[in-house]
Amino acid sequence: MNNTFLPFSKPTIDEATIAAVADVLRSGWITSGPKVAEFEKQLSAYFGDRPVRTFNSGTCTMEIALRIAGIGAGDEVITTPISWVATANVILEVGAIPVFADIDPVTRNIDLDKVEAAITPRTRAIIPVYLAGKPLDMDRLYAIAAKHKLRVIEDAAQAIGSTWKGKPIGSFGDFVSFSFQANKNITTSEGGCLVLNDDAEAVSAEKYRLQGVSRSGWDGIEVDVLGGKFNMTDIAAAIGLGQFSKLNDITAQRRKLARHYFATLGKDFEKQTGAQLPPAEFEMTNWHLFQIVLPDRITRPEFMEKMKAHNIGIGFHYAPIHLFKLYRDLGFKEGMFPAAERVGRQIVSLPMFYAMTEADVDRVCAALGDVLKTQ
Ligand SMILES: *Cc1c(COP(=O)(O)O)cnc(C)c1O
Repeated sequence: MNNTFLPFSKPTIDEATIAAVADVLRSGWITSGPKVAEFEKQLSAYFGDRPVRTFNSGTCTMEIALRIAGIGAGDEVITTPISWVATANVILEVGAIPVFADIDPVTRNIDLDKVEAAITPRTRAIIPVYLAGKPLDMDRLYAIAAKHKLRVIEDAAQAIGSTWKGKPIGSFGDFVSFSFQANKNITTSEGGCLVLNDDAEAVSAEKYRLQGVSRSGWDGIEVDVLGGKFNMTDIAAAIGLGQFSKLNDITAQRRKLARHYFATLGKDFEKQTGAQLPPAEFEMTNWHLFQIVLPDRITRPEFMEKMKAHNIGIGFHYAPIHLFKLYRDLGFKEGMFPAAERVGRQIVSLPMFYAMTEADVDRVCAALGDVLKTQ
């Protein structure tokens, strides 16, 4: 057995990036400054010149988008139960009402038929999530939003580098939120960015980012909305700039590894194990995660334990949000979203990161055969 532990995810920070961070630390300006401005400029160019602002997480980005859209008490916001809990927490944070719509068990993303069925006269917005970086049918999503006059806050936390019909996710649409948390395809250690529609929204985003402060006149400041403290530092932006310069490489490497998973597991893997693979799609998805859904005969903790015995780390993304106590206390119950509950119970994330090799994939596949194969 291979003695080195293979984690499910690991950031790769190159020496040039480490040197750039050291330069910031020596510069005398370590909070938001020129590096943030440069990072925002480069992101904006990538997102088709749409306005972009950076933040200290990919959670506050969504909360701020909801605030800019004026969504609050009494408003319903539709989202998926299979995401990081942040996606629903931001709805509660602004005083609005989370409404879950079940997932499509094949894509594991929100089911747009279920979204349409969940729309009421109080619905104001949809927060779709691109799990593992896999986009939805974006044409249909925006057709539904237009028909019902809904805002869309895309939780594209996992989807930088993903595309829809050749266009980067974020280069079109309404609000689009990305995370640069440590495990994401590109990182700033912690951080995020929000793609906005126009300069007025960008000015609002800047206010919400820093205590509601706006500059008015030639030396005055004014506070006219309640903002928070969500700015990105130049230290983080220097990491982001180094990472962002490798985005195409990173996406290509992940697609290559995903292809190798499919090739090595073989076309009979599902039949031999009862596990479900993700949809094999290599054009649009950035392969943030490579997730399989386990057969019911093995529990997730049992599977993780057995893979750990092979020195392989397994991730878990995600538990159904509606079954957390905070949400059960709001009236959500087991049985409400059966596809999300099944996937949430049995989904696991196999190792997938930029520095991983095809030999590492081979190791994971051999261990999977050992742990899961019955025939
Ligand atoms: C990472 C992630 C977030 C939160 O991003 P942070 O930067 O950690 O705040 C939200 N939604 C999804 C789907 C994520 O993967």
